[in-house]
Amino acid sequence: MPRLVLATRNPGKIVELRAILTEALGRHVPGLDVERDVVGVDAYDLPDVVESGVTFAENALLKARFVAERTGLPAVADDSGLTVDVLGGAPGVFSARWAGRHGDDEANLRLLLAQLSDVPDVHRGAAFVCAAALVTPQGEEHVEHGRLVGTLERAPRGDGGFGYDPVLTPLGYRRTCAELDPAEKNAISHRGQAFRALAPHVARALGVVV
Ligand code: IMP
Repeated sequence: MPRLVLATRNPGKIVELRAILTEALGRHVPGLDVERDVVGVDAYDLPDVVESGVTFAENALLKARFVAERTGLPAVADDSGLTVDVLGGAPGVFSARWAGRHGDDEANLRLLLAQLSDVPDVHRGAAFVCAAALVTPQGEEHVEHGRLVGTLERAPRGDGGFGYDPVLTPLGYRRTCAELDPAEKNAISHRGQAFRALAPHVARALGVVV
């Protein structure tokens, strides 16, 4: 029987989140089998939630509340994006649809680079931001944030990752996020930070003491 629902349909994210929870909750928590007990929202026949929030936290909460209410189980959701200093935090919650069509990573990236073409290196600061939310069917709510700060390149580099990974070089690195291997990126990523911070609350919601 599932004990926790991850409000995502992205199989890659489910693998990543199970790994973070396993690490954060300890490998041998009695009675908890992350593969069996932590499921994606596709295990249920639910519609998508309209992400009408204007902050990452609002959107993460919208998704987690909906799934907790409809499944009767604690639910975890995240919302993330790129915030660019000279754009006053944009694309932000519009990151996935910046060029107009949801999820068109290549068009989003091309538009962003064109918008910043005249911006000198010293002003090319940006960050990936993630809000991770936990909502229980009893109405308990927690939100944690993570940030991966870096600078924006002038042209994409690297084949790994997704979204804006090929143009963000994390602070202290010479490689873009798309040039890091997945474990390297997870260790410093906005999502990793947010979910590791949320893990103790998830543990309590599952009745596990860590
Ligand atoms: P989501 O809400 O986590 O699905 O992410 C929304 C959008 O933010 C994605 O479509 C990407 O454009 C961007 N984004 C979020 N996290 C990352 C990341 O780790 N690397 C690159 N782009 C990201």
